[in-house]
Amino acid sequence: MKALVVEDTRTAMQVICHYLERMGITPLPAETGSIAVEKFIAERPDMVLLDIVLPDIDGFEVARRLRQVEQPGEWTPIIFLTSMTKDEDLEAGIAAGGDDYIHKPVSDVVLGAKIRAMQRIIQMRYSLLVLTRKLDTANQELRRLTSLDGLTGITNRRHFDDTLNREWRRSMRQGAEFSVIMCDVDQFKEYNDRLGHLEGDDCLRKVATTLAAAMDRGGDLVARYGGEEFVAILPETSLAGASIVAERMRNAVAALAIAHPGSPFGHVTISLGVASGVAMPETDPRQLIKAADRALYEAKHAGRNCVHLAQSVENIEH
Ligand code: GH3
Ligand code: MG
Ligand code: MG
Ligand code: MG
Repeated sequence: MKALVVEDTRTAMQVICHYLERMGITPLPAETGSIAVEKFIAERPDMVLLDIVLPDIDGFEVARRLRQVEQPGEWTPIIFLTSMTKDEDLEAGIAAGGDDYIHKPVSDVVLGAKIRAMQRIIQMRYSLLVLTRKLDTANQELRRLTSLDGLTGITNRRHFDDTLNREWRRSMRQGAEFSVIMCDVDQFKEYNDRLGHLEGDDCLRKVATTLAAAMDRGGDLVARYGGEEFVAILPETSLAGASIVAERMRNAVAALAIAHPGSPFGHVTISLGVASGVAMPETDPRQLIKAADRALYEAKHAGRNCVHLAQSVENIEH
């Protein structure tokens, strides 16, 4: 442990340094205010013993400068050494960033007791920092978990809704077009009926992972919309661009070749609807979902295992 000792009187300095060494603390002597600030920056002591009357800048100003040097969240205890006895001086010292004061001439008993008290605060503060860091990590993990779907592990509906609203507002501000893809597993009721719900769950997990892997941009997001339906949001992507991604999703799920005894294709397939648009004032992002849903409905009617595009980019108004 290191203590910066700022004291211009040689004998006082010698006595304090001697006391500190006896307590197992390394003293870092500084005879002026400016040397004190330099040493503080270079050595980062664990505490500072600071004389008020110094030949250059006074102790109050030194304290203020030390506090400015500290990063947010950092704190080094500052104990003023004072032969002044006015209450106003004590008040000024605390206001300048000091934590305590010791009357001169310094007694080794008082110095020892005050240093122990500061060490206790340092230790408690450190424990609190460790705890806060743990809490931050736990909160981050909690946030991550509450945004995921329990069955498939991909983004859940709640987090998707947040992202959709955010993208909608961004689109409104920047005029950036974005796309939405709705996907639905074909004849999934039949899959469950024939193979059981556990097989069904397993299939949904595989489909979800495959859909997520089919996205290629950092901002793209796939979520489980509900049941056997999935939804993707593609920021700054046109209808043409999104239709390519949708086709890739369809192919990727087909390539899993999950046997589906009730399907005319023989394996699990998905149908997809794509819609794109730029958000307009007094419109709602659900309009884009509705448009993609209608396109998905058309894909189902066209025989499933295909991609349909929403009519117009501009029709996302009331
Ligand atoms: P379509 O091709 O028209 O979409 O037919 P479909 O059978 O997929 O559509 P429908 O909406 O009739 O059935 C959806 C089925 O998805 C019914 C439901 O049992 C099943 N399902 C929804 N969520 C889950 C789930 O979490 N696990 C399992 N195993 N099945 C689910
Ligand atoms: Mg002095
Ligand atoms: Mg469905
Ligand atoms: Mg379905």
